Amino acid sequence: MADTYDVIVLGAGPGGYVAAIRAAQLGLKVACIEADKLGGVCNNVGCIPTKAMLESAHYAKKIGSIADFGVKASGVELDLGTAGKRAKKVAEQGSKGVGFLFKKNKVELISGWGRLAGNGKVEVESKDGKKTLSAKHIIIATGSRPRSLPILKIDGDRVWSSDQAVFPSEAPASLGIIGAGAIGMEFADVYNAFGTKVTIIEALEQILPLEDKDSAAVVEKSYRKRGIDMLVGARLEKADVRKDGVSLTVKTKDGSAKTIEVERVLLAVGRAPIIEDIGLEKAGVKTDRGAIVVDDLCRTNVEGVYAIGDCGRAPLLAHKASHEGIAVVEFIAGVGHGGVDYNNIPNVTYCHPEVASVGLTEAKAREQGLDIEVGTFPFSANGRARTAGDTEGFVKIIRDRKYSELLGAHIVGPHASELIAECVIGRHLETTVEEMERAMHPHPTLSEAVAEAALAALGRALHF
Ligand code: NAD
Repeated sequence: MADTYDVIVLGAGPGGYVAAIRAAQLGLKVACIEADKLGGVCNNVGCIPTKAMLESAHYAKKIGSIADFGVKASGVELDLGTAGKRAKKVAEQGSKGVGFLFKKNKVELISGWGRLAGNGKVEVESKDGKKTLSAKHIIIATGSRPRSLPILKIDGDRVWSSDQAVFPSEAPASLGIIGAGAIGMEFADVYNAFGTKVTIIEALEQILPLEDKDSAAVVEKSYRKRGIDMLVGARLEKADVRKDGVSLTVKTKDGSAKTIEVERVLLAVGRAPIIEDIGLEKAGVKTDRGAIVVDDLCRTNVEGVYAIGDCGRAPLLAHKASHEGIAVVEFIAGVGHGGVDYNNIPNVTYCHPEVASVGLTEAKAREQGLDIEVGTFPFSANGRARTAGDTEGFVKIIRDRKYSELLGAHIVGPHASELIAECVIGRHLETTVEEMERAMHPHPTLSEAVAEAALAALGRALHF
């Protein structure tokens, strides 16, 4: 007789573990199956340890100008291996935290590899053998893995994915990074700060292609100033992986070929949903172009089977996965969830300067023929940014002229990742840009730059 649950969750990443906890809070009997560490990619090798590494990079860079702050440091040594050890510890704490939360909420953790077996059944294979569980509702939250390129495969040695780049033993002399999305740009920041010669190769015309072009321009300028080379609009044509390094041949924007010699390469060309060997065929769950097909409530084509996070619909972001998990279990429990606010997903790249956005870019708003007004406020005119000596970047607010709706917000600069939350809440509550400005922002804070950009979008910035 199979152990029976209300909900079985496959995977304990930020989608799966949050879904399991919320389901338990709602009084459902829940099991969560996980083959590896609790917390998934995000906690163990992704979001959390990379942010720990970026914190180390921040100090490594800051130390160069610390004398201006009245702190004289001598004999400074940079050690990326130690930074990596600290990042690992931070990740381990997070993973233990998920275990604690499971116990507290009475989520049953089942260690092993789970496969859908059809008709509400899930088979779990572990070192102790196989067992079959059953549930009314099954949530697939198996996440994603780094992609290789047909001409360059991740080997974990000369050719890294983010899994290897996150806990390095030391900084290589040179690193070629293929792809200037979030992963490529964040690791470029870390390795550059620790003395590695970094070259980024991006196929599209813009680094951070999803971001507003003005945001990307600020980061590009900042990176070039720090000695990071960037080949934009460049295609990787050939890669020769040797024992002692890698030769990368690139077709540049002007059509000429260029060869770069690097000690190691980081492939940051996107991630692929994990859909293999989890019983999708047996259960009859449809996939399309490598991802599980879902509707707006994360329902698959099979009744009672849902898919959340990276294995389902894009974008591949931890916060979106968690929100989907909550939405699904609240739907299952019948407590009435309004659905995931898919038009209001914040995007953050935690490089320095940080980049954050929500809603439409200026180009997208114009493409859609919207009647917009754009207000921009630079951090160089913000008192708090000047006290911190961190004045690169700006806040850009895009409003629709008729109703003054906040259509998009783009922030590049100090703590952009934190500042964007105000704009996300504003959009969620359908605020007007006038209301954003009327709400009092404490002085002196970086958040005043958001209020000033709102004013600028109304044609009346005060401090610029
Ligand atoms: P991405 O899709 O964001 O960026 C990949 C980049 O590689 C693109 O700009 C693409 O044009 C480029 N590219 C693809 N093939 C190429 C080639 N042959 N030559 C040169 N350039 C090429 O992917 P990512 O940065 O690897 O991140 C993977 C996923 O993880 C994304 O969905 C991302 O949003 C998510 N992620 C998010 C964060 C964050 O929120 N801070 C951090 C890390 C990862």
